[in-house]
Amino acid sequence: MKRAVFLDRDGTINREVDFVESPERLELLPSACESILRLRDAGFLVVVVTNQSGIARNLYSETTLARIHEKLQRETQNAIAAVLHCPHHPDLAGPYGRDCDCRKPKGGLVQQAVELLGIELEGSYLVGDSARDVLAARGTPLRTVYVHSGKPPQKELNALREAQSMPTVEAMDLAAAVDWILRDTRGEE
Ligand SMILES: [Mg+2]
Ligand SMILES: [Zn+2]
Repeated sequence: MKRAVFLDRDGTINREVDFVESPERLELLPSACESILRLRDAGFLVVVVTNQSGIARNLYSETTLARIHEKLQRETQNAIAAVLHCPHHPDLAGPYGRDCDCRKPKGGLVQQAVELLGIELEGSYLVGDSARDVLAARGTPLRTVYVHSGKPPQKELNALREAQSMPTVEAMDLAAAVDWILRDTRGEE
């Protein structure tokens, strides 16, 4: 069994904007590529798990999203093992308008990755900039890192406090999250 680091996409790997509707709108944060390579080189599967309700909202298509993720792979030297997305939204009509199991804070995307790649969640991690990322790890042994590189953290952390689901640690950005993960796996903390 392999261990993984699950990464949220927007606000964690690339700059947070309302919706990334095209490859041009995907702008990697400065340390993202290097951070992903460090995780891969440490033996982790890097798995991106991302809510993409822009598909349910008709802002972009599955084909465009695939092109956006090709760019993400290209700019991270193909070090990402899998990119899994939820195209749904519970409040919208149409083929993607439903209450699914994969939209974070639900844990469906993590479970999909477990089945697809044979991941051992014990000793694995999840990193994200939203309360719903951290909440997606509830009920699993995943250790979680909340990063301050995306959404305004105060609101997100308040939501986590109310849900009594605080992250294992907080970090400024993905680079700092990876610093902590690599120390944590070596048992240095
Ligand atoms: Mg995010
Ligand atoms: Zn979904």
